[in-house]
Amino acid sequence: TDMLYLRVRIGAIADDLFAIFLHDMSEQRRFEAMRRDFITNVSHELKTPSGAISLLAETITDAADDPDAVRYFAGRITKESQRLAELVHKLIELQRAQDAPAMSDAKPMSVVAMTRESIAANEVQADAKQIGIVLSLNGRVIPVEVPEGEPETLDDDVLVRVGREPFTTAVKNLVENAIHYSPAHTTVSVGIGVVGDRVRIRVVDQGIGIPKESLGRIFERFYRVDPARSRETGGSGLGLAITKHCVQECGGTISVWSREGEGSTFTIELPVA
Ligand code: ADP
Repeated sequence: TDMLYLRVRIGAIADDLFAIFLHDMSEQRRFEAMRRDFITNVSHELKTPSGAISLLAETITDAADDPDAVRYFAGRITKESQRLAELVHKLIELQRAQDAPAMSDAKPMSVVAMTRESIAANEVQADAKQIGIVLSLNGRVIPVEVPEGEPETLDDDVLVRVGREPFTTAVKNLVENAIHYSPAHTTVSVGIGVVGDRVRIRVVDQGIGIPKESLGRIFERFYRVDPARSRETGGSGLGLAITKHCVQECGGTISVWSREGEGSTFTIELPVA
């Protein structure tokens, strides 16, 4: 009976090992499939603008003696190259977000300072659409820029233990989207508030909103609610995927509320240092 027991035991262990092996295999296969999907997507995204550029360049050669046509096609070439540059920039950002070093060595950082930096990165886009950005801390409006001259004392500024880059990338992308998906002359509000032992950073816009059925998918790489519109107005479909990575890197969570035609609210929550 001892021998039989041993045989059964070994059989069971072998079964377990085989199950683990199978599990690893399918995990690896899933990973492979994801990697292939990603490369297919990237190739497609790169091919569209680069194909358009070479076509437009050919057209411009044919229309060389019509200055209006040359101006028009040159403008479109500029737009398509900007799209290419934006996509490459976002791909690098995504790579960085995925490769970000562990946050164990992160020092306590000022949420107000990093949020201001993220807002400042969007100043040009906000001005172009005359969108006002309002910053608040614990319910009180504070200047978006550090007041010049004397150092500002904010007793209730919050410290978080995160890397500066993932934090600012996350908030910068949310503000960028808020501006991008809002009509001119609206307001984007960025609120910082402490709730228990967590800090909540909220980006609220009065924009077009997100349909209910898309809410669960917007954090996926290359997902766009309206691909045709996105092609017109630019946008890589990578911003929110990067943001989510960065927030996770900071040890936080991100959530979204939105209603079509009313606006969207993105909320990041992080543990206070
Ligand atoms: P994109 O580069 O297209 O903006 P993102 O990953 O940043 O890519 O966002 C994915 C999609 O989610 C966008 O294409 C857009 O449809 C939608 N979206 C994101 N933020 C907002 C927002 N603030 N308001 C409305 N729609 C948004």
